Formats: sequence, C-alpha cells, structure tokens
Amino acid sequence: MMSAALRTGTKPLSRAFSSRAVDGFVGAVGNTPLIYLKKWSEKTGCTIVGKGEFQNPGGSVKDRAALGIVQDAEARGLLKPGGTVVEGTAGNTGIGLAHVCRARGYKCVIFMPNTQSQEKIDLLRMLGAEVHPVPAVAYENPANYNHQARDYAANLPNAIWTDQFDNTANANAHYATTGPEIWEQTEGKVDAFICATGTGGTLAGTGKFLKEKSKGKTQIWLADPPGSVLQSYIASGGKLKERSGSSITEGIGQGRITQNLGTLVKDLDGAFTVPDDKSIHMLYDLLDNEGLYLGASSALNVVAAVELAQKLGPGHTVATILCDGAYRYQSRLFSKKWLEAKGLQDAIPDHLKKYAVL
Ligand code: PMP
Repeated sequence: MMSAALRTGTKPLSRAFSSRAVDGFVGAVGNTPLIYLKKWSEKTGCTIVGKGEFQNPGGSVKDRAALGIVQDAEARGLLKPGGTVVEGTAGNTGIGLAHVCRARGYKCVIFMPNTQSQEKIDLLRMLGAEVHPVPAVAYENPANYNHQARDYAANLPNAIWTDQFDNTANANAHYATTGPEIWEQTEGKVDAFICATGTGGTLAGTGKFLKEKSKGKTQIWLADPPGSVLQSYIASGGKLKERSGSSITEGIGQGRITQNLGTLVKDLDGAFTVPDDKSIHMLYDLLDNEGLYLGASSALNVVAAVELAQKLGPGHTVATILCDGAYRYQSRLFSKKWLEAKGLQDAIPDHLKKYAVL
C-alpha cells in the first residue's frame, strides 16, 4: 500500500534500532492524531474532529504533499540521486520540501516574491534551501516567481519543478494517507469532511478517498476565505468570478480551479465562506478551550466544520484539518496593533483578549 511507502521512504528501514522507530524525517510524516474538539462537539451534539497536521515533522499539512511529489518524481525516474527540487512558494510547501530534500539528499531551490518576511527566507536557508527572492509581479508576467521556478528547473539536468498547484501527486499523497487515516481513526463513521484549499491537494485527495470508501455517503464540503472564488464557483454551478478582496488567513483561497482541485470539484456537496472575524474568534477560542495553538486556516476550518455540523444536525461526525500551528504567524495573530489594523479587535470577546499579548 502506498501509505506504507510514504511512511518509510524508498530506502529500507535500518534494523539497527527498534522496529517501532520510523525512518527519519520521511518516516515521521503523517499518522497524525485525530483530535476531538470537545466544546464544539458538545454545543452541536455532533462529533467534531480535527486532523492534527501541525504535528507533522515540518509543522504542517504540506509535508505530505512535499513528500508525495518528491516520491512520485523518484518513482517516475524524473529525479535521481543528487538532483534538484525547485518550487515557487513562500509558505509551508517550501518548508516541507526543504526538509524532504535534506532527508533525501537533494538540492532545494525556492523562488519567492521579495515582499516576504526575512524570517521565512532565513528559515528556508537554515533548512539548506537556496532562496531566490524575485520581484513581486503578477502571474501574467513571465518574471513571476512561479514561472521563474519552472524555467529554472527546465534548464537544469536532473531537476524537477514540483508545481504544487497542478501536479496531482499532491492530491494523490492525501488520497494515499490522509484519507485512509481519517477513515481508520473514525472507524468509518465520518459523515462529512470539510476544509479550505490553497492548491486543493488536501481537500481533493482526502475527499476523493472518503467518498469512494463510503460509497458516496461521506459528504465533502469546501471552506473558503473572503477574497477566494471557490465558494461562488460551487454555489453557481461552475461560474468563475474575478478574485477580489483579501483575508487574514494565509495559504488558502484561490482564483482558479487547479488541477488538484479539479480531480474532485464536480463531486463536492457544497461550500461555505467564513469571514475573518469568525476565524480569529475561533483561533482564540480553540486556544482557550482546547489548548490548541493554531494558524488561521485551521481556525477557519473549525468554524466551517461547526457550521456543517449544525446543518447536518446532532449525531453526525464531521472531520476537518488543523493545518499548522500559530508559531509562524504569532507576531500578527497575537498582536493588538495588528488586530486593530485589520479591524478585528472587536471580533475577540473581552475574556479572550488576554491572549493578545504582543
Ligand atoms: N493551510 C495552510 C496554513 C497552508 O499553508 C495550506 C497550503 N497552502 C493550506 C492550508 C491548504 O492546503 P492545500 O494546498 O492542500 O489546499
């Protein structure tokens, strides 16, 4: 089964140590806990669970995609020992790829807009990646960081452009691991799965597996941040509007149907848009009630899971994704000044304001 290959990598596990040990970084990806969210389960009369993807060794759900894409390229002979992995990214995918490349002995080259924080550049460099900050220009411009990544890889022997948005090895990694894990952890009793999408890999791969395994019984819903076009695309039966507006959530929202999302989009059961004030309130609420310190996309996912549970009614099980921790965003999410600048200070009730310590 592919999930076993993902867990152990392609090198055989050394028997010099306990057979319960996993094989380095690669072996530690996946098998995350499914976390019962008590307060919101009790309030809705449902079972609401979040997949603890922040526990992946690189700290996010994107470790699975990074590993899946690299292993797919190895299996297809596109990437050989000593090769180079190239991606245009400013976020979790780059971090996941940098880790996987160190663990598997590849060079990692990341192109990103030069508007990104120095912390992100430093972290990627600390993980051994070569970082190229390039002018922040629109996708239509050939100098855009994505095109530069593609062209750089095309001109280098034994190099791949991982192309996380349209390379379906991304969704396949979730089909092979995240979906089966949620199915096993809920003992097949998962009535609905909902999460937001960036590339669409998590939603499409996990959703496709759960739909197939449940013979169509598990509903699959999409959660969208403000400024993204996917909710209206689904609600209107396939009309793509212009992208406008923005959100405090990072790593999610989309202006087009990527190849990854395209593998499932027609089978989605519905979609919600979650406003930023609800997401930030939930972020603080999850910290206060569950002790979970999560990024904003995780909080948005839980808001959407609660709304879906209310729609389905008591007795149902709804699963979502806790994508990453708050550590990468804490200077914003827990800063009073930042909350005020975003007009979100009133989204947080007085008893939770104590957490905004920066
Ligand atoms: N949350 C965060 C924090 C992310 O970085 C991403 C990936 N961009 C997602 C959610 C969405 O995951 P996917 O790309 O699989 O749709």
